[in-house]
Amino acid sequence: MTLNFANMKRLSTLLLLSTAFSQTACVADSPENTKLSDSQRIEMTKTESDLTPKNIIVFIGDGMGISTITAGRIFIGQEKGQTGEENQLSFDKFPQLALIKTYNTNAQVPDSAGTATAILSGYKTNIGTVNVRPNKNLKNMLAEGCGGETAATLTDKAKAANKSVGVISTARLTHATPAAMYAHSVSRDIEADKDLAILPADMGCASISAQLISSDVDVALGGGRKEFTDAQIAAWPGTIASDAAQMTAAPQDQPLLGLFNRSHMSFEADRAETKEPSLAEMTTYTMDRFASDPDGYVMMVEAGRIDHAHHGTNAYRALKDVQALDEAVAAAVAKAGDDTLILVTADHSHVFTMAGYPVRGNPILGLVRGVDQETGGAETEYSLDQDGKPYTTLGYQNGPNIREADSDTLTDNIVQSPDFRQQTAVNLSGETHAGEDVALFATGPGAHRFSGVMEQDEIGQRLGDLLGE
Ligand SMILES: [Zn+2]
Repeated sequence: MTLNFANMKRLSTLLLLSTAFSQTACVADSPENTKLSDSQRIEMTKTESDLTPKNIIVFIGDGMGISTITAGRIFIGQEKGQTGEENQLSFDKFPQLALIKTYNTNAQVPDSAGTATAILSGYKTNIGTVNVRPNKNLKNMLAEGCGGETAATLTDKAKAANKSVGVISTARLTHATPAAMYAHSVSRDIEADKDLAILPADMGCASISAQLISSDVDVALGGGRKEFTDAQIAAWPGTIASDAAQMTAAPQDQPLLGLFNRSHMSFEADRAETKEPSLAEMTTYTMDRFASDPDGYVMMVEAGRIDHAHHGTNAYRALKDVQALDEAVAAAVAKAGDDTLILVTADHSHVFTMAGYPVRGNPILGLVRGVDQETGGAETEYSLDQDGKPYTTLGYQNGPNIREADSDTLTDNIVQSPDFRQQTAVNLSGETHAGEDVALFATGPGAHRFSGVMEQDEIGQRLGDLLGE
């Protein structure tokens, strides 16, 4: 293309918005540091169409706060035989990064229904509601008829642009995050038809499972078979798969609904004993199917069980599911062309902490050993608390298994067992979400639109813009 002034001005603005620009601007040691680097010149020749993706993949690590990302990075590195801290996750290499404010319209610490509505549909809403406008309470929402006026879902926007749509989750496909791709519900708990009984009267609302069956989603892969009636399964206008082999054997020319577990799919740590596909297999399978669509595709891929392991204060399973997400993103990056925007984010954080001055390379699931100031290596003895007891690097601010002075003394054998539940400070029956910002990583055309500190609903708004809304 010819660079005219208008283009230069517009592209300069884009470049100013771009972290990639600042990363490639390190020419201070050059005697000609007023000149542009080669990569900046390439950036400046990009047109608007170069910056509009054909395909969009949104990865959501449910509950993958920043402490989970750091611990996951070290865990994966240590599984590779490294000390761990230096490891890079597949999305650590993405050029664009943003911090995301996750609060719901009526909640300081959010849930997945309100946050997924923000990420995917582009507006914040009440805690516990899926793709319905915020309102004072359930009674008001119902008075307006199952939530009142609803905005377009990401599936609607993708279909308006003639794109194929994929919904992938290791949770139930009717769970809050995947539901936000295709459904509207005044309560995330109305997954099955029978759950409509939680409403005060028959309002004529549709369950989330019924809405998936009648949606325009082309490929839906995950768990949740028990949320669907036999009549709903019979009404699906395509193929049903119940294991990995049936998924790969499914005909390419009709919609596919993969329901690989009665409820949520297995934790990655337990998947080897099942016939369930991995998150990476579901992702690349769907990308391959959609590659033949000349208009492209939009996919949401959720690592849904990081959240569940955290709620149970079982860091091992949470980190194994981060590993599965890391592998799925790596596989997607390897397969995607330069026409694909890939986002990796979380809906919210958890009260998961990594603390205590452990030595470099200390087992991330282990007890803390400090740095020996004489040798520079690990101290021979564990670090001890005020009661003279060792403690783990990883912990939770609340949940079951509260740590008390008379708690059993921990050993490395105990705490590095896959089933160990880390200790907590505030005694709750289940660990909770946390309210601090989460990260968003972006690469591909349009990635420059994601940077700085963003409201979570701006993600969905920018996805809508990229789909020509
Ligand atoms: Zn949760």
